[in-house]
Amino acid sequence: MSPGGHLVTTAAACGLVYAGTGSAALTAGLLAGGFLIDIDHVFDYIIFERQRDLRPSAFLRYYLEGKVRRVVLPLHSYELLALLIVLARAGNWDWLWGYVLGMALHLPLDIVFNGRLVPGGLVHFYSFAVRARAGFRAERFADPRRLAPLTENFWIVFFRGSRLKNPGAKADRQPAVAPLSTASHGSAPR
Ligand SMILES: [Zn+2]
Repeated sequence: MSPGGHLVTTAAACGLVYAGTGSAALTAGLLAGGFLIDIDHVFDYIIFERQRDLRPSAFLRYYLEGKVRRVVLPLHSYELLALLIVLARAGNWDWLWGYVLGMALHLPLDIVFNGRLVPGGLVHFYSFAVRARAGFRAERFADPRRLAPLTENFWIVFFRGSRLKNPGAKADRQPAVAPLSTASHGSAPR
């Protein structure tokens, strides 16, 4: 999903949760898990992609136009979600339950909306182990050639996200690149 889409859905969820519980800790955790989780793209961008153009617009286009080559994305992982659920149950910390709730909102939205751009979908992509087995190579999950260049201003790109060059290709069930094992992100999944 686009960063703007996550911002809107997370803000709505935070409003509902705060209105229903009055818990600032739960709400702050939800904000982190639902929106700030995408900070791991910045981590990948600087550490693994070795990009030095830190303008927000350059960073945004790098991802949304599918230029990314490495998809480590430690925070976008089912394994981490499972671990955090265990820890939240053990410690019963509201802020951590909030983070878990935010992640449980964020990941399905990424799967559905980013997965529409990739033949075969992206359910498997959000497993850290699956990405690790692929050497964290974005090309193993999606074909960036399918994505359109984004020439609109920052905020339109922020809210709209990636686009296919040929929207009709959404119906194409044949992966443009060999999928990993039986399953097939890249625009690199966000
Ligand atoms: Zn994401």
